[in-house]
Amino acid sequence: MTKRVFNFYAGPATLPLPVLEKAKEEFLDFAGTGMSVMEISHRSKEWDKAMADATDLAREMMGIPTDYKVLWLGGGASTQFFMTPLNIQIPGKPMEYVNTGGWSTKAIKEAKHFGEVKVVASSEEEKFSYIPQNVEFSEDIAFAHITSNNTLYGTEWSYMPTVPKDVPLVCDMSSDLIARPISVKDYGVIYAGAQKNLGPAGVTLVVVREDLLDRVPDLAPTMQKWKTHAEKDSMFNTPPVFPIYICKLSLEYLKELGGVEKMEKMNVEKAKVLYDVIDASEGFYKGHAREDSRSLMNVTFTMSSPELEQKCVEGGTARGLVGLKGHRSVGGMRASIYNAMPLEGAKKLAEYLKEFQAENQ
Ligand SMILES: *Cc1c(COP(=O)(O)O)cnc(C)c1O
Repeated sequence: MTKRVFNFYAGPATLPLPVLEKAKEEFLDFAGTGMSVMEISHRSKEWDKAMADATDLAREMMGIPTDYKVLWLGGGASTQFFMTPLNIQIPGKPMEYVNTGGWSTKAIKEAKHFGEVKVVASSEEEKFSYIPQNVEFSEDIAFAHITSNNTLYGTEWSYMPTVPKDVPLVCDMSSDLIARPISVKDYGVIYAGAQKNLGPAGVTLVVVREDLLDRVPDLAPTMQKWKTHAEKDSMFNTPPVFPIYICKLSLEYLKELGGVEKMEKMNVEKAKVLYDVIDASEGFYKGHAREDSRSLMNVTFTMSSPELEQKCVEGGTARGLVGLKGHRSVGGMRASIYNAMPLEGAKKLAEYLKEFQAENQ
């Protein structure tokens, strides 16, 4: 039998086993074509259908209204750090960001190429261990930007900031897309690299309200305009076919599991299993995130010494609990428990952590 472990890597990250099995089954002969999905023309009717299905499923799973476009783009979420200001900056108006971690910091850096950036709130002085509360954005700005889940630090927004009516809210949802229900109409733009919670690396989902597509300067390069891709249903040029195809399978799987409400329920349950261990450990495991800011997706914690942490990571690997080493900006350990992580994985990890404490205290 093929060996499978519980994979807690932060990204690329675990994918549902049935998705991988389906991809394997169809690998050599996609949709009866006698070719792999990677080999057929992106102008073929078989691909057209796969792409349309992926988009329809994303719309259904996220509840995307009809006046929003769904784009499948290359370049990762990092490309959206500059494509966002490039597409919706208004000359002379500031852009406002909340800095909640490494990815926000990078987004802020890129926006500065396009005009004035104001950081309205930040948790940097506390090692990004919390989400600033009561955040309010100003009137008369080009857009507001937040990062809903901070993959490196294990914090996640649990409330909506106050955004003036005419200001589009932009959200980097790379690591908690479809992890809980959201109201898309509260946002102007949502973008997410697929490789955390949706599919493999190589494609980024961008959801953008139609009226914002016209803000882009005419002289912007064609490929960098969301409008170009929106007008051609993400087929202006060759789209990243294989990653989109895997996203389609993942979305089908999430739908079958019961949709986003079910995902949230499962995600809450998985996270609770792990946070309970941290809370009951009497300081043996120290959670990095402040309690009101805890992420359902990335559970981050440290221990009394790097040696002990390393021992814990290695012991986990030996048991088939892989990818527990924390990001270097926090150190310690991180368990990423995205949509595709089964409850059983979280339970196995919790059991291991309790045993490890008992043996090493
Ligand atoms: C991983 C990640 C990114 C970067 O994604 P790439 O696709 O590697 O560019 C951006 N934002 C968040 C929140 C992430 O977790």
